[in-house]
Amino acid sequence: MTSPASQATVHPADHVHVADLDACLDLINTVELDGPGGLPEDSLPKPDDAIAWLAGRSLAHEDALRAEASPDPVAWLGRVHATRDALREVWEATVEGRSVDRRAVAILNEVLHHGTQPELRPTLGGIAVGHRHDAGDPTAEALARLAEPLVTAIAAGDTGRFRICANDACRWVFEDTSRGGRRRWCDMTSCGNRAKVRRFRSRRRAGDDGEGRTPAEAADPA
Ligand SMILES: [Zn+2]
Repeated sequence: MTSPASQATVHPADHVHVADLDACLDLINTVELDGPGGLPEDSLPKPDDAIAWLAGRSLAHEDALRAEASPDPVAWLGRVHATRDALREVWEATVEGRSVDRRAVAILNEVLHHGTQPELRPTLGGIAVGHRHDAGDPTAEALARLAEPLVTAIAAGDTGRFRICANDACRWVFEDTSRGGRRRWCDMTSCGNRAKVRRFRSRRRAGDDGEGRTPAEAADPA
């Protein structure tokens, strides 16, 4: 007899695959919108890059990913990229408090379908909770693991610290873990500093630094 459970791999309760929200954000940020020359730069442009990225985070075994990608590498990579785009869309819609593109929702729901399922397992002394893998689609399972922390955060209403870099060219996604929760830039030394310089220049053109100081005083960080 072949039941769905017997086709899948059941792991013991202490067997954990870790993909946290940071891993999800890392995937979204593999497209750097403000790359060299101001052009977007994708660090996963080829199937091999995406395989290495997913396997390197222990989200799937490299051979399993390779086997799944090999019949149609372009379509395989397309699914990874579409999931990445959908994650960004959901993140941005959440941050901006706007309605979300339904195609992104459909893509993520399809992927989430392949997530790990909890499974009860009898033990000598009682019962333990393990989980079951979708052995048929390791790529979707890896992508589901990346999407799950985002879904969990949204479900818990835990989105107040979701951020997008305030530099419109950059739009790096991050979670604000600062004490005051007022971080606006991916990085103060790059985007934050560039914005400061721009603000200073525009005020100087207007003949005022906005704080009653001379331009020379305003330029001095001390
Ligand atoms: Zn930035």
